Amino acid sequence: MKAIAKVRPEPGVEIIDAPEPQIQPGMVKIKLEAASVCGTDLHIYSWDPWSASRIKPPRIIGHEFCGTIVEVGEGVDDRKVGDFVSSESHIVCGKCRQCLSGQGHVCVNTRILGVDVDGGFANFVVIPKDNARPTDRSVPVKIAAFQDALGNAVHTVMGGPIEGQRILITGMGPIGLFSVTICKALGAEQVVATEISPYRIDLARKVGIDAVLNPKETDVPKALAELAPGGFDATLEMSGHPSQLALAIEHTRPGGRISMLGVFKENVQPVDINRVIFKGIDLQGIAGRRLWQTWDQMAELHRGGKLNLDPVITHVMHYTEFQKAMELMQAGEAGKVVFTFEE
Ligand SMILES: [Zn+2]
Ligand SMILES: [Zn+2]
Repeated sequence: MKAIAKVRPEPGVEIIDAPEPQIQPGMVKIKLEAASVCGTDLHIYSWDPWSASRIKPPRIIGHEFCGTIVEVGEGVDDRKVGDFVSSESHIVCGKCRQCLSGQGHVCVNTRILGVDVDGGFANFVVIPKDNARPTDRSVPVKIAAFQDALGNAVHTVMGGPIEGQRILITGMGPIGLFSVTICKALGAEQVVATEISPYRIDLARKVGIDAVLNPKETDVPKALAELAPGGFDATLEMSGHPSQLALAIEHTRPGGRISMLGVFKENVQPVDINRVIFKGIDLQGIAGRRLWQTWDQMAELHRGGKLNLDPVITHVMHYTEFQKAMELMQAGEAGKVVFTFEE
C-alpha cells in the first residue's frame, strides 16, 4: 500500500510503499476514505525540536482520518466489518488512575497515532478498536475525517455553560473556527473573537462570528469593553499567545471561566495571576477529548444539524498532493485540508 511517512530524521515527508498492516487481537483494520492535516503533522513535517525528540522514523504519519472497517481482530465484539469509523488519536492504557476514574483524556501512558505508532495517512491502518469511533453515515466523509480536531473544540466549548452566554475566543485557527459554530449551535448569546490573519478573519465571518477583532487594526480592549460590558462569561484561549491570555484574564467577567487549548511555545511571561484569584475565574486546561463523553456530545451536535463546518474545509485534495497541502498550511492559507484516498 501507499503511505505518507517520515522516513529520515530531517525535514519533509514522502510517499512510501509499505506492507499492509496486519490485524491483531483487540484491533480493527480500516480502509481509508479521508484524512485531514493537523498542526501536529506540520510540526513533524518541518522537524521542529518537539518532533525530533519524539518521533522515531520510519513512521507513517496522520491521526485524523475516517474509513470503513474491513477486518476485526480476535476478541472484538463491538465493531464489525462495514462500520464507518473516525479516529480518536489518543491510545490510552486503561489501567492508570486517570483511566480508571473516567479521565482517560489525561492518561499518563498516552500514545498518539501517527506520532508514537503508525498513523492513518495510508490506504489501510490497524488501530485499537476503541480508537475507531463509530460514526453515522449521515456525517459527510470530509467532516468525519477531522472529528479528532472537532472534538478538541467540543471539549473546550463544553467545559462550561454556553446557552445564553457571552463567549470570547482568542485565535481563529481551525479549532477556534469550529468553536464558533459549536457555540452558536448551543445557543450562545454572543461570540466574539480575536485574530490577526485576514484569511482567518474571513473564515470566522463565514462560520457566523458576531464580531472579530484584529489587534493590528483595532483597540481590542476598548472594543471588547463595548461589546461585552462587565466581561465575557467564558473565554476560550486558542491562540497560544501570551498577550491573548492576558486579554482573557482582563475581559472574562468575575466568576467566569477561561478554557485553555492553545499550546504556548514557551513558558508564559508573568500574567496578572492575582486577577484570576480575585475575580474568581476558573482557569481550565483542556487536553484531547473526554473519552468517550466528548464523542457522544459531538454525535449529538451532528444530529442537531446546526453545525456550519463547510467554510473551514478550504481544500480537499488527493493524498498524493500532500506536498502542496503542507505548503498551504505553512503559509497560513488553509483552514482544514482534507485528503481523499480514491484509487
Ligand atoms: Zn490533530
Ligand atoms: Zn491510562
